[in-house]
Amino acid sequence: MAIIITDECINCGACEPECPNTAIYEGADDWRYSDGTSLTGNVVLPNGKDVDADEAQEPVSDELYYIVPDKCTECKGFHEEPQCAAVCPVDCCVPDEDHEETEEELLGKQRFMHPE
Ligand code: SF4
Ligand code: SF4
Repeated sequence: MAIIITDECINCGACEPECPNTAIYEGADDWRYSDGTSLTGNVVLPNGKDVDADEAQEPVSDELYYIVPDKCTECKGFHEEPQCAAVCPVDCCVPDEDHEETEEELLGKQRFMHPE
């Protein structure tokens, strides 16, 4: 499953540069599928969603750092453990029960975003 940032976040920003998928954004910032990935133009995601990778998307949170579930792979394919959770000083990066995925699905997402 993806990782989610809870409302205990203190907006320190430590997690953002650690994410290998550029799935973490500062509150109120727009996000894109293309940020930090190989995705560009119209693409069909592994979950079947049809998206424009270059289009700016609405922030998930206006106040706190947030994680884009479609881009988070729990760091699978890059690291042994979620890097955001490893650096967060208040332990507010936790599994997102609403976005459960198998290891295979997570690795598939990783390969889709970073095929090289
Ligand atoms: S678990 Fe890894 S991929 Fe997911 S948001 Fe945290 S650092 Fe990014
Ligand atoms: S490291 Fe933790 S407290 Fe800091 S911005 Fe990220 S989620 Fe928030």
